[in-house]
Amino acid sequence: MPRISWKTFLLWLSGLGVGIAVVYGAGYWVGVLTARDLSLVGQERLSLYQGTLRSALEKHRYLPFVLSRDEGIKNLLSEDDGKEGVATLVNRSLRATNQKAESDVLYVLNSDGTTLAASNWLEERSFVGHNYAFRPYYKDAIEGRESGFFAVGATTGVPGYFMSHAVLDKAGIKGVIVAKVDMRPLQKQWHNGGEHVFVTDNNGVIFLSSRDEWRYRTILQIDNVAMARIRSNRQFGGADLMPLNLQLHTLFSRNVFEIDGQRYLSLKRDSVKPGWVMHFLIPLKLVEEKQQTAWIIGSVLLMLFFLGGLFLRERRQKLRSAQRARQAGRFQKINKKLQLEIDERKRTETQLLKTQEDLVQTGKLAALGQMSTAIAHEINQPMAAIRTFVASARLLLAKGKKDSVKESLVEISSLTDRMSNITGELNSFAQKAPVEYDVVNLREALKNAINLMETVWKPGEIELHFQDLGTPVFVKGDLLRLEQIFVNLFRNAADAMGGQREKKIFVCLRQIDQCAIVVVEDSGSGIDPKNLDQIFDPFFTTKEVGEGVGLGLSISYGIIKDFGGNIRVENVKKSGARFVIEFAAVFKLDI
Ligand code: ADP
Repeated sequence: MPRISWKTFLLWLSGLGVGIAVVYGAGYWVGVLTARDLSLVGQERLSLYQGTLRSALEKHRYLPFVLSRDEGIKNLLSEDDGKEGVATLVNRSLRATNQKAESDVLYVLNSDGTTLAASNWLEERSFVGHNYAFRPYYKDAIEGRESGFFAVGATTGVPGYFMSHAVLDKAGIKGVIVAKVDMRPLQKQWHNGGEHVFVTDNNGVIFLSSRDEWRYRTILQIDNVAMARIRSNRQFGGADLMPLNLQLHTLFSRNVFEIDGQRYLSLKRDSVKPGWVMHFLIPLKLVEEKQQTAWIIGSVLLMLFFLGGLFLRERRQKLRSAQRARQAGRFQKINKKLQLEIDERKRTETQLLKTQEDLVQTGKLAALGQMSTAIAHEINQPMAAIRTFVASARLLLAKGKKDSVKESLVEISSLTDRMSNITGELNSFAQKAPVEYDVVNLREALKNAINLMETVWKPGEIELHFQDLGTPVFVKGDLLRLEQIFVNLFRNAADAMGGQREKKIFVCLRQIDQCAIVVVEDSGSGIDPKNLDQIFDPFFTTKEVGEGVGLGLSISYGIIKDFGGNIRVENVKKSGARFVIEFAAVFKLDI
């Protein structure tokens, strides 16, 4: 599992938070829309229920008015005697009308409120003889007002709507005709619809309800005066008129009734009679179900989105690590290739070193061969000459020419000197350099060498200019060897100017800071540029056999290096060669 950085974690967390908020908001919005839609439907249902209620009441509204004009009823109310016979006629007539009109009961009250005739005169719970003066519909009608009143039947206990009308004759109001409409079929119809609808009166008493348990309960607290009035007109019989377990809320900006723990969207409308309010309740469950569905779908989508995000992230990381692995593989390959190349190079180097060693060995052998040839040549020549001089000396001795023998001996002596010179040079070549040197005066070595050469050269043969500092220049070295170096340089310069008329050698000694410099320059032929690189090699010579062995400069080079110095050569612009020798100058104080 790859590690997640804090930044990524917080990003994901805030993304999740936003996602949850969006899902919650969407669910809430679904709730608002559903509540709105259901309210619209509810309003339509309310209109429908209003219509059923209105038609139930209006259907029989004409009855009291029509019957109040019935002559039989008028007679009944005006007859003082013989009432019995008229009452029977009216009873029959009312019964027939009641059946035809499909009302519940039709009855006639006299001016005291006592029932004189009724459509149910033959039934057990006949109204005949009962006094209903306490009922508002009587009171209203006797005072000339058309009245409608909902009440539970005082005699039958059957709830109904009572409509009344005064019966008039010339003398005034004689009585009241009442039509009772049974509201139970309407309630049954509502009940069967399975919806929650009820009607409250001006006291907040539910008198019509699709739910039986809510009937004769109140949605408002009834004050004592109102309660006393209800009790006096026995509107709801013996019902307790207990308040409903109701709480009011507001949800989705709409009124919500909570009745016995169940929540309903509440819609209401003033109903057909003054003070009546029809309520239509829609279970909030319907809204909540849709809301929950929206939340579930939203959560699933969010989860899918989240998982999708995780999946993509995982995939991206896998791709990245695969890429890294590929890169690592590539690097490994390159490393391996490099390692192989390094190994190859090492092998080549070893091979090269070996070849170098072989070459050095070969070079040494070649040098040895060259040297042997040169030495053999150098030594053989004087040896042959000595042999000739010895043979001629023998002959001269035999002939008694002693003077001539003497000359031969002198020649032999000079030849042996030359031979010893050659071996001497070889000896110095072979000598090991001491580890520590004395401090010597370079100027002295130079002057000694110049003095020596001036005794060798014929007077005026070579012009030697020495730019003398006049002060000593101290270096670490060996005086004799330094002299040897300078003598060799002077000799070579003289050799290089062999065939020339004017022979000049310039010698210069300088000390610049800690550097002692000697320059020897001649006006000779100079050095062939192609030979410049090998001039210090042992046995390199351009001289004729017998004139040089090519060891002078090579030995000088070795000695100078031993002294910690350096020698280089260059051609002078016009003609001739210039040798520059540098040493580390030593101050007297350092000694
Ligand atoms: P050798 O004098 O026996 O030849 P060196 O080592 O002294 O041996 O000199 C090597 C060669 O360097 C000489 O043969 C010559 O060709 C060249 N050389 C040295 N000094 C000079 C010079 N001043 N001018 C021209 N050539 C020089």
